[in-house]
Amino acid sequence: MKDGNTPILIPLGSMEQHGHHMPLHVDVLLPTEFARRVAERVGGLVAPAFTYGYKSQQKCGGGNHMPGTVSLEGQTLVHQLRDVIKEFARHGGRDFCIVNGHYENSWFINEAVDLALRELRWDGMANVKVVVLSYWDFVTQETIDKLYPDGFPGWAVEHGGVLETSLMLALYPRLVQLERAVDHPAATFPPYDVYPVKAEWTPASGTLSSPKHASREKGELMLSVCVDGIVQALRDEFNIKASGKRAAA
Ligand code: ZN
Ligand code: MN
Repeated sequence: MKDGNTPILIPLGSMEQHGHHMPLHVDVLLPTEFARRVAERVGGLVAPAFTYGYKSQQKCGGGNHMPGTVSLEGQTLVHQLRDVIKEFARHGGRDFCIVNGHYENSWFINEAVDLALRELRWDGMANVKVVVLSYWDFVTQETIDKLYPDGFPGWAVEHGGVLETSLMLALYPRLVQLERAVDHPAATFPPYDVYPVKAEWTPASGTLSSPKHASREKGELMLSVCVDGIVQALRDEFNIKASGKRAAA
């Protein structure tokens, strides 16, 4: 990576309750595997994943009160990610991709990237570029129509639902116990948050929509659509030809 031509992919997850049917580290496993598959096609390297993330929020992750959920304060996450980007830059890395698997991390990632780039500029490194993405944003409308023939409940209530469960069935079937999944209507929330959280707002299972219609086939479809989309984005942003070789600048 010394010449700066090797993209570094950094997966970010969380330790978060994901229903009775899945383990706590779903948000770590999924972006790590997306990063691995993308890295193979763009000649990149995958950094060790961030296994803890920002506090689970009730309307998109069930809430930080759920059993087993262990989170970082925003400032801690910002500083850890800022430090890691700067350290990889010190080793020569110039092109980075943050592969996020936990929605609540989003703004803290942006802050960490902003601080890292600012401090690297102070050190005279102005040519560092960071692509920040969440893998689910690469699911196309066409795919959503196929996956949710009865209507799409929205990404916010996908926590522990069809998307994550299907991906886990495709990649880590032994970590899914579908018979323990609870079938319930998608959670609905008022258009505001309350702290301390009202635990009764979160379905007792901890999932925000039902994983009942999850399947390995749906997971494989999402894997291929999202990996293709992320590969294309990185080729465009990092100027990489389909052969994996760099285009001349
Ligand atoms: Zn999740
Ligand atoms: Mn999450």
